[in-house]
Amino acid sequence: MAKCGVCFRHCELREGETGFCGGRTCREGVVRAANYGLVTSLALDPVEKKPLNRFCPGKLVLSVGSYGCNLRCPFCQNHEISWSAKAMRSALSAERITPEVLTALALEYKSRGNIGLAFTYNEPLIGWEFVRDAAKLAHEAGLKNVLVTNGTAELAVLEELGGYIDAMNIDLKGFTDRYYRELLGGDLSMVKAFIARAVQLCHVELTTLIVPGENDSEEEMRRLSRWVAGLTDGEEKRIGASVPLHVSRFFPRFRMRDRDATSVSLVYRLADVAREELNYVYAGNC
Ligand code: SF4
Repeated sequence: MAKCGVCFRHCELREGETGFCGGRTCREGVVRAANYGLVTSLALDPVEKKPLNRFCPGKLVLSVGSYGCNLRCPFCQNHEISWSAKAMRSALSAERITPEVLTALALEYKSRGNIGLAFTYNEPLIGWEFVRDAAKLAHEAGLKNVLVTNGTAELAVLEELGGYIDAMNIDLKGFTDRYYRELLGGDLSMVKAFIARAVQLCHVELTTLIVPGENDSEEEMRRLSRWVAGLTDGEEKRIGASVPLHVSRFFPRFRMRDRDATSVSLVYRLADVAREELNYVYAGNC
């Protein structure tokens, strides 16, 4: 039996068993990434699509995804590779690619405006070993690295990657324990600790998807943005007000089709609330 140290679930796995996220397996008594180098999606995307609005604007980034996720968001837009039955079929048809080949591909696309690699689409941190190896090579080749994550990982994982990642977009999906625990199968306190450390290591932008009836009150947005504004550089200097926040519109999809899309006016109103504390607030999907 071996314990996984990546996220709050701390899955205990017997030899050959796979964890809750579907991306980690116990092999030779150690829990490791089963999805190492297994690629389900590869695309040259605008940096703004990650979304990152204040990092290399106008550039492209070679975006790579594998399979598996440690959360269970019922509205997941990437459920075909994250946690549906289809995700496990995607796993079987994924193509294996080495960090060396991925970096060479990123270099090839440099002439088309590519800045480097983005680890995204599924939850990259459940396969952090591949992120580390590819990001290290990309840095050595003079490229940049972007991580798009739900931030549900132990700080030890973040420290392994910290030196190689130049920018992150981290989901801060809401600001109540109930929402994270009951609807998403997550852990708000782990995400907060991750964000608080990440802002000290690299450029960070945050995304909050506004789901009608769940996390859409002005009071919750006020508490969330106040907390972000209070983030520090580790030496008591407050830097949080400069952390960009994307307030994003929900659309019914996957297993959450029982409500309408968030009204555009509500997204704008909540973005205005966040602006009381934060300098860079963007309304997304509107
Ligand atoms: S990363 Fe996966 S295997 Fe590890 S504790 Fe989390 S859900 Fe379990």
